[in-house]
Amino acid sequence: MTASKRARVVVLGAGFGGLELTTRLSEAFGDGVDVVLVDKADSFVFGFSKLDVMFGKKAIGEVRHMYRDIVKPGVRFVQTTVRAIEPEARRAVTDAGTFEGDFLIVALGADYDVAATPGLAEGGNEFYSVAGAQVVRDVLPRFERGTAIVGVTGKSFKCPPAPSETAFLLHDYLTARGRRGAADITLVMPFGTPVPPSPDTSAAILAAFAERGIGFVKDQLVRSLDRARKVAVLQDGTEMPYALFLGIPVHKVPAVVAESGLAPADGWIPVDKKTLATRFPGVYAVGDVNGVGTPKAGVFAEGSARVVAKSLMAQIRGDAPPPPYDGAGSCYVEFGHGEVARVDVNFLSGPKPTGTFRAPSEEIVAEKVLFGSSRAKRWFGR
Ligand SMILES: Cc1cc2nc3c(=O)[nH]c(=O)nc-3n(C[C@H](O)[C@H](O)[C@H](O)COP(=O)(O)OP(=O)(O)OC[C@H]3O[C@@H](n4cnc5c(N)ncnc54)[C@H](O)[C@@H]3O)c2cc1C
Repeated sequence: MTASKRARVVVLGAGFGGLELTTRLSEAFGDGVDVVLVDKADSFVFGFSKLDVMFGKKAIGEVRHMYRDIVKPGVRFVQTTVRAIEPEARRAVTDAGTFEGDFLIVALGADYDVAATPGLAEGGNEFYSVAGAQVVRDVLPRFERGTAIVGVTGKSFKCPPAPSETAFLLHDYLTARGRRGAADITLVMPFGTPVPPSPDTSAAILAAFAERGIGFVKDQLVRSLDRARKVAVLQDGTEMPYALFLGIPVHKVPAVVAESGLAPADGWIPVDKKTLATRFPGVYAVGDVNGVGTPKAGVFAEGSARVVAKSLMAQIRGDAPPPPYDGAGSCYVEFGHGEVARVDVNFLSGPKPTGTFRAPSEEIVAEKVLFGSSRAKRWFGR
């Protein structure tokens, strides 16, 4: 690419992946690059902030980061919906017109398919969307007694520790309201342990569940809810009565991505594990939307965005390609009681995923706060 021509980069989706990528490109090139960042929403909300909203710790206005605050040289944010993607042409058709680039980055995340779990919309509550978390915030104060199920409904879901965190925070919430004695809490998960790559993290979570009397049903998905009888039906047909159902909905690739031919409707965008490149030249997929094999989590979306940013910089400058993506990241795990642990995981460097547990500490509590605030500052300038 000649230095006289500004590289045009179109980034679809301003989540963890899209925000990190555009920030890196702006830091590297300033006005020397022409980046269009597209998102249908007006603001970004960290995944973990949804837990703060649902348990009434924060108002939605406190956790929203407005896209209008993005002021970065070389970057133009456009709030609009992507209606079609034409990967051969590196083009996206949106309600605000068509955007075409030398590079097209798809960072549209994962969509939720609540209807894939019969009865979930009518008989339970999902809390993975901002709207869902807000509804649960109003439902929780009315929950007085009976069994609360935190139930996973699909195998691939965002932030694998989040269901466990939810069970811990629900325990604290009910304890504070004096209702814990009248309620049971059970977590239903499709894994054999809460965090499979890290046996130490899983052991610590299971020990804390046992201490708090939280039930753990492993290797199971919730397939449907029978609203009339108030039972959750698991994949093996087992029925579990519930009074409160907090569901992690089925995740799926956004329809606009599947329709583009980038991904199958029942999968994620296949990419080169080292570069995040799709089979279409100049088209990359970062974050939850890809099928690289890392968990669906912000830290991995960000890590994959970093590799793609470096690759674009190298191509624009004519430098050597960057080292391959390592699939490494650290996830914070809320244990309740104000305690936060960390698990450092690496998915792609060795023959199998590894995870190292860092027990809860004051330092990690502070680290998690900094994790959010430093990104808000880098991405939004405040
Ligand atoms: C309860 C909960 C807790 C979590 N906790 C953590 C945590 O502690 N640590 C962590 O690392 N991760 C956590 N996560 C996961 C994290 O939020 C996601 O994995 C991360 O946001 C993925 O980043 P992404 O860029 O791939 O996609 P997203 O951040 O989901 O961004 C995708 C963007 O694309 C936009 N979009 C989608 N379709 C269209 C369209 N057609 N047109 C225009 N725009 C569109 C969306 O509006 C969205 O802004 C948590 C998630 C949840 C739900």
